[in-house]
Amino acid sequence: MSNSNNGSCSTCVHFGDGVPNEQLVQIRVNGSSDGNILGGCDLPSNAALHLKVSPISSCDAYQSLKAA
Ligand code: SF4
Repeated sequence: MSNSNNGSCSTCVHFGDGVPNEQLVQIRVNGSSDGNILGGCDLPSNAALHLKVSPISSCDAYQSLKAA
């Protein structure tokens, strides 16, 4: 399931719940170093915990948008 552990949440398919659509597109296209932005992670094991992450966060379950 994991493609890489080098990516950040900003380009992960699981990132973005609760982030306004326009802002999410900008984050995905331009990246973001703004650690104040928080979005939900819909990876099932994280969603159950209502985990909120920033675009610069990451984890071993990272799955690139490009591979989706
Ligand atoms: S916490 Fe992991 S699975 Fe969730 S959005 Fe970030 S990289 Fe993806």
